[in-house]
Amino acid sequence: MLEELIKDIKNYADVNNVPIMSDSGMRYVMNYISKHSVRNILEIGTAIGYSAIMMCSVHPEVVVTTIERDEKRYLEAIKNIKKAKMEDRIHLIYNDALEVSFDEKFDLIFIDAAKAQNQKLFERFERNLESEGTIITDNMNFHGLVEKDPEEIKSRDLRQLVRKVKDYHTFLANHYAYETEFLDVGDGIAVSHKIV
Ligand code: SAH
Ligand code: MG
Repeated sequence: MLEELIKDIKNYADVNNVPIMSDSGMRYVMNYISKHSVRNILEIGTAIGYSAIMMCSVHPEVVVTTIERDEKRYLEAIKNIKKAKMEDRIHLIYNDALEVSFDEKFDLIFIDAAKAQNQKLFERFERNLESEGTIITDNMNFHGLVEKDPEEIKSRDLRQLVRKVKDYHTFLANHYAYETEFLDVGDGIAVSHKIV
């Protein structure tokens, strides 16, 4: 049963420190898919397949292409997707997303990968977005670090990463072709709707 499987996946994520989407963020994305009749989704950052399975569960016609670069997680995702009986609806790609390209177009692109790469990923895959499609990015608040005074953040690497998340926020807010809503859901999500 799907409910049991989801419980097991969440438990695995907890034990193995896999940063799957928060319940409220997941709920928002699923609602979005339902409300806007999204059918064809590209996900960057499969991890162990949790969000891909949840998105597919919204409607029997939803199909997901999803990219993961970590072998252990990719293999775990294969197992979970099989157990969910969604092998024919979830297409897994084992590679670094920055090496992947295709011509297919998607109604929704969900970016949930390395925070520092958000802008690069956005720029790489936006040509794969249908006109009037949407790009959703997770982890915009970076666990509250974005709101902090940079001087309070001790590690230099972390400060740089926080700067990148902020720069991406600015990039989205100023992008002429997208109208972006920043929502305080889960770890902060950006919903960028293509307007031209
Ligand atoms: N969307 C998942 C969670 C993803 S966690 C869920 O909610 O269930 C982020 C994942 O992105 C990690 O597993 C990490 O290995 C992967 N990742 C980060 N940068 C990547 C890249 N450039 N290409 C492919 N995968 C990447
Ligand atoms: Mg995330």
